[in-house]
Amino acid sequence: MKKIIALVLVAVLTVCCLAGCGNKKENKQPKEFQTKELVMATNATFPPYEYYENGKIVGIDAEIAQAIADKLGYTLKIEDMEFDSILAAVQSGKVTMGMAGMTITPDREAIVDFSNTYATAVQSVIVKADGDIKTLDDVTGKKIGVQTSTTGDIYATDDYGDENIERYSKGTDAVAALVAGKIDCVIIDNEPAKAYVAANEGLTILDTAYAEEQYAIAFAKSNPLVKDAVNGALVELINDGTIKKIIEKYIPAEEVPAE
Ligand code: GLN
Repeated sequence: MKKIIALVLVAVLTVCCLAGCGNKKENKQPKEFQTKELVMATNATFPPYEYYENGKIVGIDAEIAQAIADKLGYTLKIEDMEFDSILAAVQSGKVTMGMAGMTITPDREAIVDFSNTYATAVQSVIVKADGDIKTLDDVTGKKIGVQTSTTGDIYATDDYGDENIERYSKGTDAVAALVAGKIDCVIIDNEPAKAYVAANEGLTILDTAYAEEQYAIAFAKSNPLVKDAVNGALVELINDGTIKKIIEKYIPAEEVPAE
């Protein structure tokens, strides 16, 4: 009798396990392959990479994502959120990818996978043209505005101390605070810095000695098949010159990395 019970148990367990394994395999098939939709999380206050024009999110990242979607025969949906929320949305699978002029950093690489890099940047310091910050040294002890959780935030906190940092959820809010005299400078990526200075009177840019940064698309580590598909399309678009063309439409003569 015991033997029979044992046999039945083994049989039941085997069936459960097989069913379980089957399910697991099915779960591994990315939903994007069925829905044929890429959902991109971004923060659309970052010109010329992502910003609003006539109520629509446009810019380099939006165009690159659209070119990738077109190549894959997918539709593209863009979700605007705070920069600080993008990686969590990617990790949880709520969105397919994070694309927001996002710099590859070791801390981020620990929690998400990155595509090949498609653009480079450096950090810039925006100051009042008639203010007393003339060089990087003058930034010490001043009130520095940054966008929360960006590399500007990370580097400025390290270099100038947390007590001197004012964090804003949008780059535009940091720049508005500078214009209003609430802070002394804003540390942000060079291209949005140029756009903000062009859009606001009385501001200018100090170039910093910060290292060059590489922008890439972030994916959940649990979704390698989608990453491979999107990255494959991105690499083709880099190699055939499409990405360079898109970037140069917004940033004349910007150099695009080879890979
Ligand atoms: N490149 C910076 C970063 O990745 C800023 C990106 C952004 O503000 N959209 O942190």
